Amino acid sequence: MVHAALTSINQRISAACSKVGRIVSDVSLVAVSKTFEVEHIRPVAAAGQRVFGENRVQEAKAKFPILRQEFSGIELHLIGPLQSNKAAEAVALFDCIQSIDRPKIADALAKEMQKQNKVLDYFIQVNTGDETQKAGVALVEADRFIEACVKDFGLNIMGLMCIPPLDDDAAKHFKLLHDLNKAHKLPKLSMGMSADFELAIASGATHVRVGSALFGKRD
Ligand SMILES: *Cc1c(COP(=O)(O)O)cnc(C)c1O
Repeated sequence: MVHAALTSINQRISAACSKVGRIVSDVSLVAVSKTFEVEHIRPVAAAGQRVFGENRVQEAKAKFPILRQEFSGIELHLIGPLQSNKAAEAVALFDCIQSIDRPKIADALAKEMQKQNKVLDYFIQVNTGDETQKAGVALVEADRFIEACVKDFGLNIMGLMCIPPLDDDAAKHFKLLHDLNKAHKLPKLSMGMSADFELAIASGATHVRVGSALFGKRD
């Protein structure tokens, strides 16, 4: 089955890679299906998409067990803030958590993985704009927190993730995150959304998180 919007996004990813001499298989599309019902997600999975992002544990829990029964190989990423009282559910449900940003949650997840005997991948969310209302570790604490996640908590840290401030030049934040990622020798980099994923690819993103350009406008 063909899904026109998915085809278009994949073509744009491919073109963005060619333009800067990157290999298209080095960039993963994370299809952000938050707020959309199973009926909307199913055609995207049927067209071959396997990596999905959700920002709420409860919502993902209501949708993805159904989709996993229908499609094999689904990889589910949590891209929204996580409370430590949801760590058990998050470890059970997700393959990757992109939004860890404080020791308390890193510790809760490490303990939960032990309990459930399950290993997840992680990204550390960095608040590159130091916005007070936004999740993510503060820039000044980032170095120490990244090291603690690897050494103290033993988490499999793939790389960093950010959501640039709406009113700022995204390129600046992508460069900052890229440089921080490189300084810590992390292999993956999650940045870029519907409005700026091509720019993010030019800045080194390995995971672009695309919602509205793929599923349509959210309510
Ligand atoms: C909603 C969301 C996205 C997708 O945003 P679009 O602009 O719809 O592509 C990406 N990342 C995070 C963390 C989100 O919450």
